[in-house]
Amino acid sequence: MRLKGKTVLVTAAGQGIGRASVLALAAEGAHVWATDVNEQLLAAYAGVANVTALKLDVLDKAAIGAVVAQLPALDVLFNCAGVVHNGTIEQASDDDLDFAFRLNVRAQMWTIQAVLPGMLAAGRGSIINMASVCSSMKGLPNRFVYGTTKAAVLGLTKSVAADYVARGIRCNAVCPGTVDTPSLGDRINANADPEAARKAFVARQPMGRLAQAEEIAPVVVFLASDESIFATGQAFTVDGGITI
Ligand code: NAD
Repeated sequence: MRLKGKTVLVTAAGQGIGRASVLALAAEGAHVWATDVNEQLLAAYAGVANVTALKLDVLDKAAIGAVVAQLPALDVLFNCAGVVHNGTIEQASDDDLDFAFRLNVRAQMWTIQAVLPGMLAAGRGSIINMASVCSSMKGLPNRFVYGTTKAAVLGLTKSVAADYVARGIRCNAVCPGTVDTPSLGDRINANADPEAARKAFVARQPMGRLAQAEEIAPVVVFLASDESIFATGQAFTVDGGITI
């Protein structure tokens, strides 16, 4: 059990990478608070050992404070919540950019601000932020708002890492390639020709297939565990070769 005794908070745990990570973290013995804005998705955690499901909208600062206040001090925070906006800079509205910054970036600032006092008091903590290869690592077509905000996540991650490196707090980012999750399915099905759209997503993956969420979760487990104790301020890429 690599995570026995660790306490973990995960955002956007209802489906996709968040859910796969919760199950992997709990299987390694952590106690995981799995949160999501969508309570229906959380119902699927009923009966799963080591998991407590809680509603949390990460756009609501007061709600973040209230949830963190009812938990014991946390060893690990996994900020998984994020939204993908489709389109170029010409297609981006002010509201699109504002919304993506609120969900992809500011929510991470809020959750980190909420958990940091407990982590600092304990002198330890691992913060894991969901970024993407689509960020400062790589430009991808039709991902102007998304890539802009995920690049900001890498900056946020390094900044937190730099400020708390001497006080036992580590902060790293995870950068997946394209992962076959429910929201990717929605983005594919929104195209006039979904089959061609899926082929295009697969074509940009040198391994010739999309990732499964369970193939991203092991990096989250590693960063949550003390196996990664000497790693901070880094972006961990799991992308099927997209950034080779
Ligand atoms: P998803 O997009 O299918 O699911 C997102 C989850 O977030 C849902 O359960 C939804 O209810 C929840 N959510 C939405 N708004 C919320 C809010 N305000 N508060 C709390 N929860 C909220 O899942 P996914 O595709 O695995 O994406 C998860 C993260 O991984 C995102 O940050 C995404 O940008 C990132 N990512 C995804 C891919 C991919 O290809 N799927 C690639 C790289 C990075």
